[in-house]
Amino acid sequence: MPSDRDARRSLTVRIVTGMVGGCAVGIVLNLVGVEGFVEDYVVEGLFHVGGSIFLASLKLLVVPLVFVSLVCGTAALDDISKLGRVGGKTLALYLATTAIAISFALLATAAVRPGAGFDLETDVSFVAQTPPSMAETLINLFPSNPVRAMAEGNMLQIIVFSILFGLAVTLAGAPGKRVLALFSDLNSVILRLVMLLMTIAPYGVFCLIAKVFALQGFGAIPPLAQYFFVVLGVLFFHAFVTYSALLRFAAGLPPLVFFRKMRDPVALAFSTASSNATLPVTLENAELRLGVDNSIASFTIPLGATINMDGTAIMQGVAAGFIAQAYGIEIGPVGYLAVVLTATLASIGTAGVPGVGLIMLAMVLRQVNLPVEGIGLIIGVDRLLDMVRTAVNVTGDSAVSCLVAKSEGRLSSERFHADGASGQSAFE
Ligand code: ASP
Repeated sequence: MPSDRDARRSLTVRIVTGMVGGCAVGIVLNLVGVEGFVEDYVVEGLFHVGGSIFLASLKLLVVPLVFVSLVCGTAALDDISKLGRVGGKTLALYLATTAIAISFALLATAAVRPGAGFDLETDVSFVAQTPPSMAETLINLFPSNPVRAMAEGNMLQIIVFSILFGLAVTLAGAPGKRVLALFSDLNSVILRLVMLLMTIAPYGVFCLIAKVFALQGFGAIPPLAQYFFVVLGVLFFHAFVTYSALLRFAAGLPPLVFFRKMRDPVALAFSTASSNATLPVTLENAELRLGVDNSIASFTIPLGATINMDGTAIMQGVAAGFIAQAYGIEIGPVGYLAVVLTATLASIGTAGVPGVGLIMLAMVLRQVNLPVEGIGLIIGVDRLLDMVRTAVNVTGDSAVSCLVAKSEGRLSSERFHADGASGQSAFE
């Protein structure tokens, strides 16, 4: 009988195989040409159905998992004042890493100047949607109806309700203890469900990626090659340099172990292009493989999936610089500062779903008076970049979760360094 650990390792290998296989098959189909039978039955049939079922099975876990896990996490904090401290640290780290990310993006764009000499006669047809205002975002944190918040999957409202509920559980004495016992059991069952559904992940990942590559191909890249590779370069730099430095110097954790353990969430983020859909796996991975205690992970990971989007901020920074250069508009240091601030704030209150980065970009461009229709220039390569930046987004969430857990003494070093996953909480 293979152990849990071996099974987990072989699942990771199969997921990565699904990802690489999906890329290869998709690219080959795109080169051969997607039409007729292949288009109707393979790409829009098999890949579409397989990918959609997998995506739905991930999404169905998000709301119950966040609610149950966060109630347990809040109730497990023996001291309520810890909640404020953990919240403050998490928020500060999320905002700081996003601001660092976008600063790198702006520096790289200023150095490479991907938009200089760009031909603006290309098709510019993007219609911007109006992003929510800051006041609206703040008011929207508080649910007037938790059932509606859950039905709509409004993550910030679910987080606020779960924390309040968890606090009440702690304060309610004996009835609270009974409710907590039920929630703990539910939490274990839902985590099992995550693992169960993960067994179809290699096929789901394969279908999702094969479809994107078969339909998309790389045809849109050459005219935008400089923009594309500047975004990609900064994404890799931020993921491997900034997070490594933070893990190594702020938490004393070996980055290589961290990245090795991030393979599952990264593969899923890449294939779904959605931090939200990846959330169940990011959370499970943080607790069972990275050793972050539930009391920290249940708060930091869902919050991160919603408000922490370093990868998205990088795309926005490069895009803002690119559009300014392409239109020959000088936005100056104050403009760049405004881009940093707006992009950092814009990431709060917009959900981690495919393509949302472009909507946030409209907000950033408006803020610095750049032409919003410039988004039409970069839209052709956005889907491919979305996949990579979502992978960076979930890596950032997990890195911050490790940092906060470590600083609170809630990171199991034994589990962080162990080879596989364990189903038990290291803190029980
Ligand atoms: N797809 C990204 C995410 O879910 C958001 C974006 O950049 O569009 O994190």
